[in-house]
Amino acid sequence: MAFTYGPFVVLCSSCQKPSLATVHGSITESTHEHDHAQVLHLASCQDCGSGLLIAQGIDQGAEGEEFTSPVIRWPSPAGSVGARVPAALRQEYEQARVCYQAQAYTAVAVMVRRTLEGVCTEEGVKRRTLSQSLSALQEEGKIDQRLVEWAAELRVLGNEGAHYTGSQVSPEDARDALNLAQAFLDYMYTFSTQFEEFKARRAKRHQKNT
Ligand SMILES: [Zn+2]
Repeated sequence: MAFTYGPFVVLCSSCQKPSLATVHGSITESTHEHDHAQVLHLASCQDCGSGLLIAQGIDQGAEGEEFTSPVIRWPSPAGSVGARVPAALRQEYEQARVCYQAQAYTAVAVMVRRTLEGVCTEEGVKRRTLSQSLSALQEEGKIDQRLVEWAAELRVLGNEGAHYTGSQVSPEDARDALNLAQAFLDYMYTFSTQFEEFKARRAKRHQKNT
């Protein structure tokens, strides 16, 4: 008997309401990441009836297959990041977005900080502070100077957000932090990757012509 998925609790990206999504069909595909596959579900919102494409990761854990929480891929929820962002970092960022929707603004700052730390770790950079790690990424030419400045200006990403200070993060600062995380991930994993691929294609074409 075929395994059936769902229904899933989602924040529908068509009607913008929390709703149940009924799954009509699913396919499993392998990804370029080791020990990680994903299931794509064609589903519909039980509230507005719109079609939704929902992705769910499958990790090979010690106790067998573990499913990650479902994420809507299409229609693209506002503020979503590209499909090339590694699954672990995407999950951190998605949690930051969920916190923002729940108006848990201090938690947004914590999750954005974790997301940026995650990028540094994935890139093999580990300095004493987050801002030192970001500067190191810039020195290696992996990120733009403007992203480093943006992060430095956001005080909620430093001690103010990471430790207990008795004050809460404002909605505006949370929004700015979330926007930075989105720009950061898209720069690292969409813009940079596509640019590298373009350069590789051009070099190949050049080789052929000489
Ligand atoms: Zn809906």
